[in-house]
Amino acid sequence: MQIITSVSEMQHYSDKIRINGNKIAVVPTMGYLHEGHLSLIRLAKQHCDVVITTIFVNPAQFSPEEDFEKYPRDLNRDISMCTSAGCDVVFAPDVAAMYNHNFLTFVSVDNISNKLEGTFRPSHFKGVTTVVAKLFNITKPHVAVFGQKDAQQTAVIKKMVKDLNFDIQIIVAPTVREPDGLALSSRNIYLTNGERKDASVLYKSLKLAEEEINNGENSVEIIKTKMIDLILSKPNFIIDYISFNDADTLEELGTIAGTPVLVSLAARIGKVRLIDNLVIKK
Ligand code: AMP
Repeated sequence: MQIITSVSEMQHYSDKIRINGNKIAVVPTMGYLHEGHLSLIRLAKQHCDVVITTIFVNPAQFSPEEDFEKYPRDLNRDISMCTSAGCDVVFAPDVAAMYNHNFLTFVSVDNISNKLEGTFRPSHFKGVTTVVAKLFNITKPHVAVFGQKDAQQTAVIKKMVKDLNFDIQIIVAPTVREPDGLALSSRNIYLTNGERKDASVLYKSLKLAEEEINNGENSVEIIKTKMIDLILSKPNFIIDYISFNDADTLEELGTIAGTPVLVSLAARIGKVRLIDNLVIKK
């Protein structure tokens, strides 16, 4: 497996792959990899000849009060995990390689970037779409794989790809979970033992919503109240939002008129903010 840190070297490498008629998949990550990331790499490998995993903690998607400095990093561990998952190239630039000292150009997707996570993290998706657009121009992929874990991120990126005519197929991979349902996340290491145990209530609340919808409950208010009661049975939780949305447009739903419905939530426990979601289909 090759490790590349220079933007021009990465572009040159991808040019050669394309000239040889081979297909490239990219898996953008912020590193500190776990089984969720590796599942994306394996899925990418099924669709393409060469898989590039990008590892870059992107300062542009963190607000000043967020955890950019403290975000977990371990490049050597990531490299050996990428190797074992069948990745061909790790692209791991430093911040200076990605953002020159007079960087002035940003990509932002209006409307859908401003709801849900965007309400709590106002400049987050502008940072995500800017870095993903750059990574697309640097790695030149045919396919890009993202996780359903970040449902709004996938909707925003699909919209960017459509609106800006990126000739890239976006594949969304299912969320990988711990046996008790907690979605794998690089930030889970910050949970204390007690918080880790309580954190499984988030997935349980999503499954409760699924059960309610499958039983014919169509009032979002009623389902939300039951979810809130369940989550707050663990008193250390603070809920940022629970939302029911159209899975593609992210339009907020007041009643369940049909499926699929995206149920998503964000909640804080101790110092950790967790997000999760479920697409409910009948
Ligand atoms: P991150 O490193 O957290 O920015 O995530 C990089 C990619 O991995 C994104 O497309 C995420 O949606 C995806 N991802 C993160 N956690 C999981 C998970 N538990 N299961 C599947 N994909 C995930």
